[in-house]
Amino acid sequence: MDIYCRFCGEPWDHDELHDMSDWIEQDITYKQAAKRFRELGCNAWEPDSNERCTHEPIEPAHIMEGIGIMQDMSPYPDEWSSPDEIGFMFEFAEMLENEI
Ligand SMILES: [Zn+2]
Repeated sequence: MDIYCRFCGEPWDHDELHDMSDWIEQDITYKQAAKRFRELGCNAWEPDSNERCTHEPIEPAHIMEGIGIMQDMSPYPDEWSSPDEIGFMFEFAEMLENEI
């Protein structure tokens, strides 16, 4: 399963959260790694970084917004939706609107 940077949309394998301790040379739990990823995006794996990822977004603005909303709603990475799922939700919402 992939998780997506909320600032640029870059996919990361969710298992890499388990390895974040090694990357940043700090002893952190999986839960702390997930929190760090929510706050910093790709930069979460940079040692000594407390700056957010500043890469150009690779997904449209509404998808980027959706990624952020999902990450704010749940601390559990396996509940975070992918850009495809978010795109589908938008399409579905639009379809419902058109039916009314
Ligand atoms: Zn990023």
